[in-house]
Amino acid sequence: MIVSVLVEVNVNKINKTFDYNVPDLLKDSIEVGKRVLVPFGKNNIEGFILEIKNNSEVKNLKNISEVIDENPILNKELLELGKRISNENVCSLVSIYQAMLPKGMKAKKNNKVSIKTRDYIVLTNNNYDNFINTSKAKKQVDIIKYLIKNKEGLKKDFSSSAVTSLIEKKLIKVISKEYYRLNNDSQLSKLNVLNAEQNKAINSIKNSKKDVVLLRGITGSGKTEIYMHLIKECIDNNKEAILLVPEISLTSQIINRFKKYFGSSIAIFHSGLSDGEKYDEYRKILRKEVKMVIGARSAIFVPFTNIGLIIIDEEHSTTYKQDHNPRYNAIDVAFIRGKTHNAKVILGSATPTIESYARALKGYYELVNLDKRANNSSLPLVNIIDMKEEIKKGNRIFSKELLLNIEDRLNKKEQIILFLNKRGYSSYLSCPNCGYVMKCKNCDITLTYHKSSNMNRCHYCGYAQNNYEICPNCKKSKLKNNGLGTERIEEEIKELFKDARVIRMDTDTTSRKGMHEKLINMFSNHEADILIGTQMISKGLDFPLVTLVGVINADTTINIPDFRSNERTFQLLNQVSGRAGRSNLKGKVIIQTYNPDNYSIRLSKTNSYIKFYEEEIKIRKKLFYPPYSFLCQIKIVGKDYNITSKESNKVANYLRNNLDKEIVLGPSISNITRIYNKYNFEILIKYRDKNKIIKVLNELNILNQNNKLIKFEIDTNYISM
Ligand code: ADP
Ligand code: ZN
Repeated sequence: MIVSVLVEVNVNKINKTFDYNVPDLLKDSIEVGKRVLVPFGKNNIEGFILEIKNNSEVKNLKNISEVIDENPILNKELLELGKRISNENVCSLVSIYQAMLPKGMKAKKNNKVSIKTRDYIVLTNNNYDNFINTSKAKKQVDIIKYLIKNKEGLKKDFSSSAVTSLIEKKLIKVISKEYYRLNNDSQLSKLNVLNAEQNKAINSIKNSKKDVVLLRGITGSGKTEIYMHLIKECIDNNKEAILLVPEISLTSQIINRFKKYFGSSIAIFHSGLSDGEKYDEYRKILRKEVKMVIGARSAIFVPFTNIGLIIIDEEHSTTYKQDHNPRYNAIDVAFIRGKTHNAKVILGSATPTIESYARALKGYYELVNLDKRANNSSLPLVNIIDMKEEIKKGNRIFSKELLLNIEDRLNKKEQIILFLNKRGYSSYLSCPNCGYVMKCKNCDITLTYHKSSNMNRCHYCGYAQNNYEICPNCKKSKLKNNGLGTERIEEEIKELFKDARVIRMDTDTTSRKGMHEKLINMFSNHEADILIGTQMISKGLDFPLVTLVGVINADTTINIPDFRSNERTFQLLNQVSGRAGRSNLKGKVIIQTYNPDNYSIRLSKTNSYIKFYEEEIKIRKKLFYPPYSFLCQIKIVGKDYNITSKESNKVANYLRNNLDKEIVLGPSISNITRIYNKYNFEILIKYRDKNKIIKVLNELNILNQNNKLIKFEIDTNYISM
């Protein structure tokens, strides 16, 4: 018996398998989809069995050393899915298979996360009457009586000397039982009765003949409630459901909402879990103990075998696309798995991507709308403040209106959210005399000043540097703060409103495990009046007492040079505004901007998604951007500027020669030229024929696999921002 093994060496970009001989002893445990340990070079490494066969063209095969898994870790569907993704995304097959598995399983065999067990004591099959009647050891008799009544008991709950004696007498024995680190048991309650609009929506979804439904519903319109009803029906039909949500919203409220109704029948995946927790959640699925999973991007790969429904909440979120290799998009994977299982895919959002909405209008997706808030609360009033005017009055950070409203809400004991998409204290330090700016020594980017640690950090590579007393360039002036970050806002607010209780949420305050949840709970319990935060607080949160949302600077996303910058700005403002006035209390949103006439900001005032879409689609058409084309980005990275530039030109020429109609742009030097001390060039392809582009890129990849001068990063469906 011979097996073809895909080894876990990522350096070989082509998906080559190696043949190994199977020693007689291991023959019975060989199955496709299991992992094995094989000799490779000087070492033993892990690999996946992809094929079992009788002959090999290679002579003198080595033996496999060990079979790792008791059961196949990747089933047939996932093995095939991986091949398709590897081809379409021009990335190595083994990297996809690794991405499909939770981290605990990827780890080397000898440091694999453990299965947790607890010891229980149980009765052996003896006659206990005699013992109970004659024994003088009261503790031991009590244990026996307890076990007769309860069948088993947690060993550590009993006196260990009594337990030991009973074991010696062979009256009881110890068994160990597995348990899961995360336990979802909680009080189960009934689902809400849907309102008329929701019922109409759910019927349209169920009656649709299309594979994909786009559920566009304003924030608070009750989309999540609809998901719950659909999932319940799916589970009642004995099928499995996957719900993907953006990573950020996962550690908080949405999980609790689902736990309330589905209790222990949910597995949960997000990056806040430990490896052990992930491993346990995965085992619940492998053992068919759960019928639904809520998770971030990678949960799309769970080994369910009878999927009835896949829901992607906040479908416009960029977190569904992995921004490093393998660059798969969980939404594309959902479409493939949906087809395989004949399961409906639902994309939900208040502000769908321009592409999704265009597809829905064209009839590729079923379009279902929810235009009212579920509890009849009205959308908040939105005021746009021109900061150019405020500056003239001397109001640099907060407009007068925002301050008055904050004060008013504090007096009324209502809550406030202040949003700024920039962590740190100020954007950067610079010299007012010579203009010197502190930059990262590895990357071509300004360092962000963090006051609490008095450090300047690179948000790309993490490089940190102390402050200078005076400008190191002209030695004449102190360095000065420029721009704004959340940390600075917090300080200013505490200064202005001395009695207000303030919480700040950004990557700096939430990096420790459990902090995210803790801060959300604190705010939820009204232990704070003002929540200041970055993008992380824009999604999915539901605080009934919040009646004011302030956007400190709406321009942070507009100024990013990217064709999606307006779309992102509109989405973000809509999302943040949606946090206000979700209960019977009326909400208000104050958006501060230097670009009040920009359409993405102007249309946020009236929450006019459709008007925004109509403006935006014109521009996309004119410039041949998605949905009129797909984008492929190729990054060429190298240590030497000249060599990298030359190689980039070679790549671009190759593409131009092989892709006639497509538009190949570049190479151009990246916005951030240098990251981690390497130079970055970019080539952009706007294409329509996906199959053709994939073929050419895979060929290009093979041609260059031994090119040591540069590294390639190919993104066949580039999303950006
Ligand atoms: P979305 O996901 O569209 O933002 P949610 O499903 O979170 O909307 O609903 C917004 C609020 O309205 C939530 O507090 C939710 O519990 C409540 N809600 C939604 N639908 C109903 C319903 N049919 N009955 C009672 N409350 C509902
Ligand atoms: Zn850096």
